[in-house]
Amino acid sequence: MFGHEGELAGTRAAVVGAAASGKAAALLLARLGAAVRLLDRKPDALAADEASALRQAGVELDLGPHHAGQFAGVSLVVLSPGVMLPPLLPLLPAGDAAPEVVSELELAGRYSPGRVLAVTGTNGKTTTSGLAAHVLQSVGLKVFLGGNYGTPLSQYVLDGREADVLVIEVSSYQAQYCASFRPDVAVLLNFSPNHLDHHADMAEYLDAKLNLFAHMRPEDLAVLPAAMRADLGERHFTRARIKWFESTDRFESERLPGAHNQANMEAVFQATQRFGVDERCMRDALDTFEPLPHRLQRLGAARGVTFVDDSKATTVDALRAALESFDGGVLLLAGGVYKGGDLASLGPLLRRKVRAVCLFGAGREIFEAAWAGHVPLAWEPVMDKAVHRLMTWAEPGDTMLLSPATASFDLYENYKERGKHFRRLFEALR
Ligand code: ADP
Repeated sequence: MFGHEGELAGTRAAVVGAAASGKAAALLLARLGAAVRLLDRKPDALAADEASALRQAGVELDLGPHHAGQFAGVSLVVLSPGVMLPPLLPLLPAGDAAPEVVSELELAGRYSPGRVLAVTGTNGKTTTSGLAAHVLQSVGLKVFLGGNYGTPLSQYVLDGREADVLVIEVSSYQAQYCASFRPDVAVLLNFSPNHLDHHADMAEYLDAKLNLFAHMRPEDLAVLPAAMRADLGERHFTRARIKWFESTDRFESERLPGAHNQANMEAVFQATQRFGVDERCMRDALDTFEPLPHRLQRLGAARGVTFVDDSKATTVDALRAALESFDGGVLLLAGGVYKGGDLASLGPLLRRKVRAVCLFGAGREIFEAAWAGHVPLAWEPVMDKAVHRLMTWAEPGDTMLLSPATASFDLYENYKERGKHFRRLFEALR
């Protein structure tokens, strides 16, 4: 750990959000000697054993609706990923007493040894950071992979690990409240409407992502999508050297299908060259890379139809990327909790690639309004029925694609449960 125990003695801090990142941040602050209070709106955010472990480490717990008293005398507020600042602002001390507000990433970044490769963007963050970590490991570097997905950076610091390179997946929320976090290399994969419930408008959302690049220096490297060159070129948001990337056929991998994955691979290559990766290392690493499930994952064939699980496609752009990766004959399962995005713009692509769509669960009216007239369209309340309905329309060689373009909370706990249900339906048909 870069900091030393007791370094923050005398500091009173509040950590908002008691999931993995918040818990780790609170423990880190306690280790550094701060008086820490961990807050969460949800009264049942912590299990009894977690609560007692945190208390034992000196963390004060205060669960339930937020109120000004929780922030009295606090000089540092740490936000967990996904926690919104605006609703908290009226509760924070004002004027000279106003606390510093930072993300968990900013806090942990101050105490993290190692060079940093950060990845942000709307789609592809987990795939791309996982691949970057795998490629770097394959050239013999000690790598920590975490952040928004997996292990929080605060946990890395607490564990006293010392990696050569920290590959960190960064959400826009975490990037937004960084005051000094400075990656050696940072990748912006793409940018499209999402999370508009959290970010007042598109410009603010883009600024939040770009804040990741704000503290970089000329010797650092920003890897940015060529498609956004016109937009980004004007903004003067970084002093880092810029490399633009786009989808090419330089790298190919069966397990990473589609042009979007070729763009992801290209971004990884541009970013990891800094750490000694060359084209050959990249190719060798691709041969042994296992992508995570539920991202355009081919499950196999049943009754002549190939089943592909893309349950993680919660945005319109992820669905677009999925459709573009097939030649045609797609039987599409979509629908759920709509998060925004221009569904109507998919019309021509649906005409070219999709034989029929069966919507399931929530969002029916939104999808029907956008897609009616482009493809044969049906709706069922649940996925089981939707799969069976599409099977009656299937021709040999077709692809049954679950790529819902929505969040899953209408019917499932999360996208993983949605994907697992799809797999069970596939196995029952096989
Ligand atoms: P994130 O961590 O940003 O959510 P994931 O790697 O988990 O990204 O992938 C989420 C979804 O986005 C999957 O459906 C995946 O197939 C799709 N996807 C991956 N990379 C891209 C990309 N570059 N552009 C559009 N969609 C992508």
